[in-house]
Amino acid sequence: SLPLLQEDNPTARQLGYVADALRVDRQRFTQYAPGQTCRNCELYGGEAADSQGGCQLFYGVEVKAAGWCSAWKPKA
Ligand code: SF4
Repeated sequence: SLPLLQEDNPTARQLGYVADALRVDRQRFTQYAPGQTCRNCELYGGEAADSQGGCQLFYGVEVKAAGWCSAWKPKA
């Protein structure tokens, strides 16, 4: 698998990506609702059982299935 996206990556910072959705900054991201994770995001490419997988927004790295960022969209 590819290296993991780091939270201090500039784009990750801009989008408020965290590897664990329990650490979402809820003051900054009032749209966050518990239960939202990369695993159930439209832009996530990992299989259901994987702990990490690709994200359409980040090239050459993987995001944690348990992560979240402000570009989260429900799976269609
Ligand atoms: Fe995770 Fe979706 Fe954000 Fe990609 S767009 S980092 S899959 S929440």
